Amino acid sequence: MIIRKLFKFENAHLVRGSTSRRCAFSLHGHSYKAEILLKADDFKEGEIAIDFSQIKDMLGWFIDSFDHSVTIWGNDTNAYIEAIKSHSDRWAITPVNPSAEQFARLFFWFADRALSAERHISVESAIVHETDSAYARAFLEDVQNPRMGALKPDEFRFSDEIRNGWGDRKRFEKLFMGN
Ligand SMILES: [Zn+2]
Repeated sequence: MIIRKLFKFENAHLVRGSTSRRCAFSLHGHSYKAEILLKADDFKEGEIAIDFSQIKDMLGWFIDSFDHSVTIWGNDTNAYIEAIKSHSDRWAITPVNPSAEQFARLFFWFADRALSAERHISVESAIVHETDSAYARAFLEDVQNPRMGALKPDEFRFSDEIRNGWGDRKRFEKLFMGN
C-alpha cells in the first residue's frame, strides 16, 4: 500500500552548470510541491498505516526549512554564498546542486532516516515538482548512486532563522548523528 503526503514550499536558487542561462546565472524561485510516497505492509491501531499528521510532524519541519529560503550549493563561490547570507535570513547550504532532481533525492534520504523507527513503513519515492509541468522522482537506488553525489549530513548548513523554527536547534544533527 502506498501512503502519500504532499508538502509545499517556496524556494530560491541558482542551478550552476545548467544549460539554461536563466537557471544558472539568475537567482530565481519556484513554488515547489514535494510528494513523499511511503510503502506500508502493516497497520497500526485504528487500521491506519501511519497518521498523516505524524508524517507532517516528522518530515514537515525539514521540508519547511526550504520555504522562503535560498538554497545554495556548497560548491558555489564564497562571494555568492556570503552575499546571500548577508541579504537573506533564511538560507540552506546543501552538498548537491539544488535542482529538482537533487531535492527529490534529498527528501527521500531525509524521510528514510526520519521514519526509520517505523518498521512497517518504507519510503517508496520522493517527487519534487519544480513547476506544474515538470517533476523529478527519486528512488532508493538514486539516493545510493554515487554518480549522483553523496548526501552527508555534516555538509549541510542551515541559517539561525531556519534552526529557530525547528523547536530544537540541533534537530537535524540529532537525527543523523545522535548528538
Ligand atoms: Zn529554477
